[in-house]
Amino acid sequence: MTTDRDRAGDVVVRLDDVRREYGDVKALDGVSLEIRTGEAIAMMGPSGCGKSTLLNMIAGLDRPTSGTVRVQGQDLGTLNETRLALFRRRHIGMIFQFFNLIDDLSALDNVALAAQLTGTSARHARRRALELLDELGIAERKDTYPAALSGGERQRVAVARALMNRPALLLADEPTGALDSRSGEQVMDLLIDLNQIGQTLLIVTHDPNLATRCASRLVELADGRITRESTLEPTA
Ligand code: ADP
Ligand code: MG
Repeated sequence: MTTDRDRAGDVVVRLDDVRREYGDVKALDGVSLEIRTGEAIAMMGPSGCGKSTLLNMIAGLDRPTSGTVRVQGQDLGTLNETRLALFRRRHIGMIFQFFNLIDDLSALDNVALAAQLTGTSARHARRRALELLDELGIAERKDTYPAALSGGERQRVAVARALMNRPALLLADEPTGALDSRSGEQVMDLLIDLNQIGQTLLIVTHDPNLATRCASRLVELADGRITRESTLEPTA
């Protein structure tokens, strides 16, 4: 039997009529979207249409001018900055086009830091970080600093960091945009594998190939609005 509570629990993210204005610019102009557990959503749209702004709203890195953002049932608008930051660290993982690793921390410490920021002891954090680096096939690079890693390796470290706190949702903002096609494919395969073991994903991409390979649903954005939503057939 499916109860209302079960159904509510299935929704990881819910945006209702979200608007974000920067001065005269309507970066988001009334976006409503629901993301359910286990989905892999690809978001596409021209540069400047609001994709990163939308991810930032979901991650609680920025706040809407109006409308509501709920993650795991929590209305982010009711949280103060401190609680919002903690909520983000616990529930959201994020990866970016340019990796955003900390240059003067080793691969292992970049990953471990994510858990230490939520109060996990350094010892436990390092143990889990090593497990993740191992699962992602880069354990032998654990003591290497970002500058000495290839682009593909940096993005793997960033994925490990994003997964540290077992996030309900992994947000990826053009994750293969700075990678050569071979490492891009590898990161793409990694995201597909993660989704197949249940990780909910929202991936912003310019690459239709990435969208169709990774995602079960395509959301198209233009001028701050969703212009089309479609279900994608599995290709794998
Ligand atoms: P996309 O990721 O789709 O390329 P963005 O979400 O980065 O687009 O930007 C959407 C619009 O909002 C653009 O016109 C951009 O210039 C503007 N914008 C985004 N962030 C800011 C900001 N912090 N201050 C002012 N304008 C911004
Ligand atoms: Mg962007």
